[in-house]
Amino acid sequence: MEAPILITAFYKFLPLAAVEELHAKLQDFGTEHGMRGLVLLAEEGVNGTVCGTPEVITEWKALLHELFGAIECKDSTADRLVFKRWSVQIRDEIVAIKQPDVQPRGVHKHLTPEEWHATLEKEDVIVLDTRNTYETDIGVFEKAMDPRIKNFQEFPEYVKKANLPKEKKILMYCTGGIRCEKALLEMEKQGYEHVYQLQGGILAYLEKFPHGKFQGECFVFDHRVAVNQELKPSARYSLCPHCGDPGDVHVACVRCATECVICARCQQHDACRTCSKECKNKLLPKRIAVC
Ligand SMILES: [Zn+2]
Ligand SMILES: [Zn+2]
Repeated sequence: MEAPILITAFYKFLPLAAVEELHAKLQDFGTEHGMRGLVLLAEEGVNGTVCGTPEVITEWKALLHELFGAIECKDSTADRLVFKRWSVQIRDEIVAIKQPDVQPRGVHKHLTPEEWHATLEKEDVIVLDTRNTYETDIGVFEKAMDPRIKNFQEFPEYVKKANLPKEKKILMYCTGGIRCEKALLEMEKQGYEHVYQLQGGILAYLEKFPHGKFQGECFVFDHRVAVNQELKPSARYSLCPHCGDPGDVHVACVRCATECVICARCQQHDACRTCSKECKNKLLPKRIAVC
């Protein structure tokens, strides 16, 4: 059976002058067509993940094309809408690194999924993940370096401290490619010349190479929590009710016996082997925070 909902992720860096006008057009289109998702607009471009019926998503892509020119969209499917609401927001950056001199312009040192895969097979390279710990904990490329950052804005500081060999080829990746656009320029700023990024990110790679060199599942920022190797909604992870990270530990709530899924970290704390914050708080003596 064909899944009734299409999810599409896209971004493009391009100078936008009339941000307010674009905001109104995108906001209205989504509202009128019953779409859900989040779109960010800034003077540097557009970034978003949205969902709707396949017919609506086709029209949405035509609108993106009309407003922003050619724009690559990465699709996946689900059997229901994966966002609660529809929101188009104006921000300072479409992906925040807070380095005003880091400004992507056009395609720069991209490797297609095929080139990326071939390079990993043939060459001795450094593979660098630019995502956060709650993402890398559930899936990474083989042999990837994990900066263990909690927020992308920590990436420039990580590079300063990491002292990676400058003569070696460095291959960087993230979920859909947008973070690497800025991460790569930041690396160049810090003197790295041989840096490349995976075009379209893990989502584009999995489309071409399921069960290839990416291991585990890919965290996504919507109700699916993650997508598996076939880009289908995760059957394994759900968000831990206590910390919000992906979890796959099944427990019966120690207070109300409800079956629930929490994360491995929270499992360490007695009061967090509960189905909800409410049950946890009922177990805890006042003013003692556990996790
Ligand atoms: Zn947790
Ligand atoms: Zn409970």
